[in-house]
Formats: sequence, C-alpha cells, structure tokens
Amino acid sequence: MVNGYMPNTLEDALKIRRENEVVLYAGGTDLMVRKEESIPYLFLNLIPKLQEVTEDKETIYIGAACIYSDLLQNKVIPDILKKSIATIASPAIRNAATIGGNIGNASPAGDTLPVLYALDARLKIRTLDSEKEVNIKDFIIGPKKTILEKDAIIEQIIIPKKRADIPFYYQKVGARKADAISKLSFAGIYQLENGRLTDFACAFGAVGPTVIRATSIEQMLLGKTMEEVRNLIDDVINQYSLVINPIDDQRSTAIYRKKVSLNLLGDFLQVICNAKE
Ligand SMILES: Cc1cc2nc3c(=O)[nH]c(=O)nc-3n(C[C@H](O)[C@H](O)[C@H](O)COP(=O)(O)OP(=O)(O)OC[C@H]3O[C@@H](n4cnc5c(N)ncnc54)[C@H](O)[C@@H]3O)c2cc1C
Repeated sequence: MVNGYMPNTLEDALKIRRENEVVLYAGGTDLMVRKEESIPYLFLNLIPKLQEVTEDKETIYIGAACIYSDLLQNKVIPDILKKSIATIASPAIRNAATIGGNIGNASPAGDTLPVLYALDARLKIRTLDSEKEVNIKDFIIGPKKTILEKDAIIEQIIIPKKRADIPFYYQKVGARKADAISKLSFAGIYQLENGRLTDFACAFGAVGPTVIRATSIEQMLLGKTMEEVRNLIDDVINQYSLVINPIDDQRSTAIYRKKVSLNLLGDFLQVICNAKE
C-alpha cells in the first residue's frame, strides 16, 4: 500500500518536505522497482509548475517533473536531448518517467545525464525559503548519490541555448535498440567558426561512478584548426583513456565499455574534422 502526500503547488510540496520525512516520487519508474519505502511518498506529478518548459533569449528552463513523452513533442527541447530520450525504455515508461527522476536517481547509466553534462546544464534547487543553481556535474557525486538536501526539490533543469543550438553527436550502446539500459553512452557538441573549433564538450555515460566529462582535455582542442584537431586525435584519445575506468557488471565488461567509448570519441572527432561550417 502506497501512502503519500499529493500537493498541487510547489510551495505546498516544499512545506510538506520541510515538516515530514518523505521520499520524492515523480513518475515512480525507478522507485517502483526498489523495495517499497516505509516512509511516505511526496508525489510531484500533480504540480503544474514542475511540468512547464519555458525559454528566454539565452536559456531553456525544463520543469523537473516533465515526462519524456511531452519533452519529445516540445520544439524548445534541444535535439540532442530528444535523441537520448528517444532511446529510453519504451513509450509506456516514457509516459510516466521524468527528467528530474533521471537526475535524482543518479545512475551512471541514466541516459539524459551525458547530454546534460555536455550541455553544461544547471539545476535550480528549491527549499521553502531558498533557491540556488548548481551545475549538474557538482550535483551528482556518486552512483545513486547527490548533494540534494533533506528539505530540497529539483525545480528546473536550465540549459544555455549557446550549447543547445550547435551540432551534436549522440550514441547509446545497449543490448538492443529499445527497452535496454545503456552498456555505455556518449554525447558530444561542437561549433566551428572561421575554420577553428570554438566550442567542444563531450561526456561518457556508464563508464565510471558518475558521468565522465574532462574539461581539461576539452581545452586541448579549443581554438584549433581542423588540421590541428586531426593531428591531435590520438593524443586526445590517450588522455581520455586515462580517465575512463569502467567496471564489469551484468550488462557489459570493463574492456568492452572502454574500447567502444574511445571508438565513439574517435568517430566524433572524425565527424568534426570532416564537418562543413
Ligand atoms: C522498464 C524500465 C526501463 C528503463 N529504461 C531506462 C533507460 O533506457 N534509460 C534510463 O536512463 N532509465 C531507464 N529507466 C529508469 C527510469 O525510467 C528513469 O531513470 C526515469 O527518468 C526516472 O524518472 P521517474 O520520474 O520515474 O523517477 P522516480 O522513480 O519518481 O524517482 C527517481 C529518483 O529521483 C528522485 N526524484 C524524482 N524527482 C525529483 C525532483 N524533482 N527533485 C529531486 N529528486 C527527485 C526520487 O526521490 C528518486 O530517488 C527504466 C526504468 C524501467 C522501469
């Protein structure tokens, strides 16, 4: 039997969260496969504010309780994020599961996460009397571990448009094309201007305790011509091979994960070298 609170406003939800020990429940698709909680759920799926997508000139704001099916239909959502969402589970799960739940669950195999890392997404974290923005890479600190405080809720995912509107590369490797948890995944974005690489970011999923992004390696490529990028490909792959340390588990082996991740990185770099402005 599920006990819980079903507020209709974020303020009521934050008040309940402050005054009670509760488990946040959005779509429940991660929670329902865990052992049932003895503490009550705080349902977030009746709060309209958490289901809004808005934008201004420079930024996209995604409510944490937006379900994947709605995000796939929304023209404001960046194509790279839609591409990762389309690989998640099946239509039935995507009708309930939320982007905030993928972040709150903090699985290294969460499929929106490498995209959100590459886009430099920030999270708006609310309590009853405070709000702050945190970069997603500082929010997730280990498998199933985040810095979310006991009285806080993720309200929004905030994406800078300068990252969202540029060319991208995304690949998920699973046991089959649908309804498969990632063995590994890779997300990258880049921008070319006047023959030089002016923006570059990439992130690897399911090959470490959290998504891996290495800004110091990215810096090696920024400002380079395509010929310089081509000459650096082996070097860059070697640098990433030092920071990618996957494990063996029921879905894949460490050797396979590392090899295929680095192959995808190499393919992404070749795509950049062959791209037209
Ligand atoms: C059959 C099946 C297939 C799946 N396939 C995939 C897949 O291919 N790829 C993938 O990435 N995932 C997959 N999942 C996992 C799951 O669907 C996703 O992680 C989904 O995004 C979770 O969202 P939810 O709203 O259901 O989260 P919930 O189960 O409601 O919550 C998950 C966690 O996030 C916390 N949380 C939820 N909302 C907030 C918030 N606003 N603020 C703070 N914390 C919050 C909860 O307390 C909980 O700890 C699958 C699950 C199932 C059952």
